Amino acid sequence: MSLTCPFCEADALTTVTYTHALKAGRRTIHVPDCQQMTCGNCGESVVPLPMYDQNHQRIEAALAQTPAAVSRGLLKRLRETYDLSQRDASRLFGAGDGAFAKWESGQSDMSDPAALLVQCALHVPGVMEHLAKLAGIPLTPPGSQGAAPRRAGERQARHAAPVESAPV
Ligand SMILES: [Zn+2]
Repeated sequence: MSLTCPFCEADALTTVTYTHALKAGRRTIHVPDCQQMTCGNCGESVVPLPMYDQNHQRIEAALAQTPAAVSRGLLKRLRETYDLSQRDASRLFGAGDGAFAKWESGQSDMSDPAALLVQCALHVPGVMEHLAKLAGIPLTPPGSQGAAPRRAGERQARHAAPVESAPV
């Protein structure tokens, strides 16, 4: 079944499976079996929301298998969980003041040690608190004022972790 292309309005959109190349730190991770719709008439591609969600899940799963890889979305999510500015987050992880801004925007790549430390902070309880104490940065615990309360098992990935544009 083909759908109407939003660019040229031809009924020529078909599903194409591709391998997504994701930059995470200094690595490029290849995520096979991602999908998008490509127009056979004008060549433009679109990714409908359900497809985007499915791609996103595949990408998160691939990242989870690569310990030293931290996506930009994950960095932002970590900061938002603790209500930290980019500057405070940078200091907390012992990096230069502008580090998070550069990492999140893709301006510069995190080193593997920095990525591994962020992974620990994401997955091991108490790491963020400890780092904050060492750096002398006040930390807002997740679930208290500022951040919305979270329940166990609640997914909050939806608004975070933008998928970088697909290779053309
Ligand atoms: Zn088209």
